[in-house]
Amino acid sequence: MKAGVLVETGRIEIQEVECPVMQPNQILVKVKNCGICTLEQRLYRGNMKIYYPIVPGHEASGEVVEVGSDVFGDVKKGDRVALDLVLRCGECYYCRTGHSNMCQNRFKKGVRILGGFGEYLAVRATQVYKIPDSVSFREAAFVEPVACCIRSLKKIGLSLADDVLILGAGPMGLMHLQVARAMGSRVFVSDPNTKRLEKAGSLGASLTIDPVH
Ligand SMILES: [Zn+2]
Ligand SMILES: [Zn+2]
Repeated sequence: MKAGVLVETGRIEIQEVECPVMQPNQILVKVKNCGICTLEQRLYRGNMKIYYPIVPGHEASGEVVEVGSDVFGDVKKGDRVALDLVLRCGECYYCRTGHSNMCQNRFKKGVRILGGFGEYLAVRATQVYKIPDSVSFREAAFVEPVACCIRSLKKIGLSLADDVLILGAGPMGLMHLQVARAMGSRVFVSDPNTKRLEKAGSLGASLTIDPVH
């Protein structure tokens, strides 16, 4: 299969690599769409190092092409899914206390992680989330970052009719805006970039603020 391989800092190549071998407890997925997150940017720029070569990409969607014999869930061939590609170990203190987002072993060598820039992925059943027909593969690639926004707004205890100020209208700021609006909030957005502010306005910000002028 083909994959976008980050061979070293600042160099990504399209290479012919081996298709992942699916274990009986895994699901083989053909990747349809994959986003580029800050994590990939950090890896590309060398601000964060896992190991090279690596196939990055963790905000992905795809179609199930094969289901292992030991998979218990109701996932079947042809299902459209959103993927969670930052694998957690399930064994460390954080994983065992329900904070797997802080897993101590998630970026260790040997742990097969990311991989969304490849054509196929073999993943655990816990890493796939079925999506309805009304959600496109393109949209489904945003499931992971949107989940982060939902979690962050839940963490601050946001409730109906609360006001929210978002500093920064980048991709995550704009997603926070949409989620906060869906949760019934009035949202103000501040960003020095006019284009981004306009976007925030068109996505329903009650007030947009340029903090510089
Ligand atoms: Zn991400
Ligand atoms: Zn862990």
